[in-house]
Amino acid sequence: MKPIVAIVGRPNVGKSTLFNKLVGDRIAIVDDQPGVTRDRLYRETDWLGTEFVIVDTGGLEPRNKDFMMTKIKQQAEVAINEADVILFVVDGKAGVTALDEEVAYILRKKNKPVILCVNKVDNFQRQSDDVYDFWSLGFEFLLPISAEHKLNLGDMLDTIVQNINQLELPEEEEEGLKLAIIGKPNAGKSSLVNRLSGKERAIVSDIAGTTRDAIDTTFEYNYNKYILIDTAGIRRKSKVEESLEYYSVLRAIKTIKRSDVCMLMLDAQEGITEQDKKIAGIAYDEKKPIIVVMNKWDALKKETNTMKDMKALILSELPFLNYAPVEFVSALTGQRTLKLLDLADTVYDEYTKRISTGILNTVLKEALILNAPPTRKGRLVKINYATQISTAPPRFVLFCNYPDLIHFSYLRYLENKFRDAFGFEGSPIDIILQKKG
Ligand code: GDP
Ligand code: GDP
Repeated sequence: MKPIVAIVGRPNVGKSTLFNKLVGDRIAIVDDQPGVTRDRLYRETDWLGTEFVIVDTGGLEPRNKDFMMTKIKQQAEVAINEADVILFVVDGKAGVTALDEEVAYILRKKNKPVILCVNKVDNFQRQSDDVYDFWSLGFEFLLPISAEHKLNLGDMLDTIVQNINQLELPEEEEEGLKLAIIGKPNAGKSSLVNRLSGKERAIVSDIAGTTRDAIDTTFEYNYNKYILIDTAGIRRKSKVEESLEYYSVLRAIKTIKRSDVCMLMLDAQEGITEQDKKIAGIAYDEKKPIIVVMNKWDALKKETNTMKDMKALILSELPFLNYAPVEFVSALTGQRTLKLLDLADTVYDEYTKRISTGILNTVLKEALILNAPPTRKGRLVKINYATQISTAPPRFVLFCNYPDLIHFSYLRYLENKFRDAFGFEGSPIDIILQKKG
């Protein structure tokens, strides 16, 4: 579990600039998958070998002052509850504002490391004393920086790493299949948690503190043990926080990273929203096995094609999840909810499946004969050999004379052929091209 570093602060202090400088080129990762939401709020990065996840709080529309005030305070609350280290950015040119003080007040309430970054200090020779006015906000770590000119960012990163190294390590994880139920507020996540872990399932216990304030719910079904992870976040019913998109996204990142299988919960009454896409995009990015759970099926007036139409809608709105099985359930009545557990076992088996090299190459050869890689730039492109190098997710290396000349759509073709032959239902597949004669 990589620690989470959140950037907070009022608008225009330079948060996004800082985020972009910190993640650098990594933001330009090209992903040809259609439909993946591109405005990511978080990235994995590292400094001197220490890896962490950096999260930007995202833009706020300045509607009016009161609205702004509330939103910024909410973001600070979320960060102090969910992140491991907080970068509190202020504007060194503007001096300490009332809003900075409000945010500081919230951030001081918990004993989490906060690094106060006084930004827009563009000239370290002519640094004014104003920077030190910010000590009044009451934080142990204060650093003048310039995000735009990349000044002092090294010291800032050192301070982040120093704080990360002092974090308490999470305890050993419980045995069992870790299921993440993810989705936007009101999709029915807590109803499903209650259903699945209900009395008849013989709850083992609510286990606190596996990672910070996460609460996991463990239960048994058919002699298998399951862990619904991070049910604290799901059950916590402070709707102020839940309504925040940023909150759900931050929570989702943490939960998805820890999970073995993700259940993406959609609300059949609402269809598929931007927020659904964003959360689905995280699960996809993290290369986790995914089950699409279409909930509130009881509430829908169903006709012959309702299910088929819904599947088509999912495929068109979330095309990158085309490998994920879809289940239509009602957390309210319990209809088909147990089936989700069987499905979770299945997709996890697929995710951890290994294909023997002989069979893999037979399938590859057939696919190549049926549809050879197109000749490009006058060169004959050849794929000679494939092998599976790892599981969870299944990862295949294909040895090729000109890897750069193979188009993404051809890899898609091969992926589909592999899926036809081997299944991998619910599991992402990675195909890597490696240059070899
Ligand atoms: P956010 O709203 O907090 O995300 O702020 P932005 O990153 O959008 O930056 C707001 C403005 O401050 C932009 O015009 C940036 O170019 C500017 N800015 C950001 N960092 C610096 C800096 O280090 N020095 C100066 N002079 N301007 C900066
Ligand atoms: P969460 O915010 O994702 O945890 O959602 P909740 O479990 O709190 O559910 C939100 C609302 O949807 C509640 O009023 C539930 O009673 C209702 N709900 C949840 N599941 C179902 C379902 O399968 N069918 C119907 N009709 N309502 C549901």
